[in-house]
Amino acid sequence: MTSILQALSCADDYDPNSLPVDRARELILGLLQPVVGHERVFVRQALDRVLSDDVISPIDVPAHDNSAMDGWALRFDDLAASGETRLKNIGTAFAGRAFAGTVGAGETVRIMTGAVLPAGVDCVVVQEVSRVDGDAVIVPPGQRRGQNTRRAGEDLQAGKPAIPAGRKLRPAEIGIVASLGLGEVSVRRRVRVALFSTGDELCSIGQPLTEGAVYDSNRYTLWGMLTRLGCEVIDMGVVKDDPAALEAAFREAAACADAIITSGGVSVGEADFIKQLMAQLGEVAFWKIAMKPGRPMAFGRIEPDGPDKPGAWLFGLPGNPVAVMVTFYQFVQPAILRLAGIDPVKPVPAFPARCTVAMKKGRGRTEFQRGILFRENGEWCVRPTGAQGSGVLRSMADADCFIVLEHEREKVGAGDTVMVQLMNGLV
Ligand code: AMP
Ligand code: MG
Repeated sequence: MTSILQALSCADDYDPNSLPVDRARELILGLLQPVVGHERVFVRQALDRVLSDDVISPIDVPAHDNSAMDGWALRFDDLAASGETRLKNIGTAFAGRAFAGTVGAGETVRIMTGAVLPAGVDCVVVQEVSRVDGDAVIVPPGQRRGQNTRRAGEDLQAGKPAIPAGRKLRPAEIGIVASLGLGEVSVRRRVRVALFSTGDELCSIGQPLTEGAVYDSNRYTLWGMLTRLGCEVIDMGVVKDDPAALEAAFREAAACADAIITSGGVSVGEADFIKQLMAQLGEVAFWKIAMKPGRPMAFGRIEPDGPDKPGAWLFGLPGNPVAVMVTFYQFVQPAILRLAGIDPVKPVPAFPARCTVAMKKGRGRTEFQRGILFRENGEWCVRPTGAQGSGVLRSMADADCFIVLEHEREKVGAGDTVMVQLMNGLV
């Protein structure tokens, strides 16, 4: 494969010491390709998987012209140009039980929603506007040809793609697959992600917390986000800040995963040592991203050990728990979507809200404050969650959105409009 650094050095704005967030994301996405490999799964197992091939519709949906309403099926040409029309009721068409005869001149049949349109019928008049008089039905003027009917194939046409490859199969797509009568679909294999935390101070659940230690929370937040993205997670535990242990962990991870995610060890005090190791095992565009939190973040590749091994993409996330989640949301999430075969990978949607609290903002970087949305006087408003330190994980738990203060933006006054990104469904 082409060298990452070679590819990046062609981008004239590539500055590994202060890369704007959007540019870093673009550069990462530009390098990644979807994983190769697919499997056939039952329709219910396909939920949240990524379709590997177009689903071609084997039938028209609906399969027949049918009624969209409960009412009277008739021939439009029988209706008087003005005034009421009196028609003879000759039977009923039910959903799943068609009217066997033909509707002739001056005739009508009572029809239920979803019932096949009887031969000759091209118009359905809803029952609420018509009147019944013995075996006659009186229809008011003002009807249109084709009204309240659904045409065969108006949803999906036989032989045409019903769902394109690269689509994540949500309940709507699962329903479409079922509507075609298909029991299985072809999906891409899951992205395999190996994960470990680094730090001599880290303590795992079940161990007593010794002097100066912290429990390892990053592996749990990362596991949660990766699971929600549908990845196969390989949890490699905590690795000490020790070159031999780290090297062994990187090699093991690269042998079994498409991507490796680590946390910790990339801040200034430790950076050189890890950077050297990563560079020795592969290639690293060691990025200081112009953002807060999350400035130090390594992106690169760990090369394979032998010719038959594929190697893996590397995301060396910062150690601070909030920085982990923010960098994951901004960079790892789109990267995983690309690897998973989602097409297109859209930017995270953002929308404007009124910020009710003044906020400071550093120049020349994007800041991600944790916010709470609320409705006030008919408009969406947002306020920060409180303490915004990159170690304050509670700020993530209390938040329902990121307040994104863009690269060029200066301070925010109370009442100013800011952009927010919903955390819904991932973090
Ligand atoms: P580092 O990036 O390794 O310098 O770590 C920055 C801060 O994050 C330090 O206070 C670490 O103790 C903390 N930290 C690192 N890894 C974890 C983790 N897995 N869980 C919780 N806190 C962590
Ligand atoms: Mg550390």
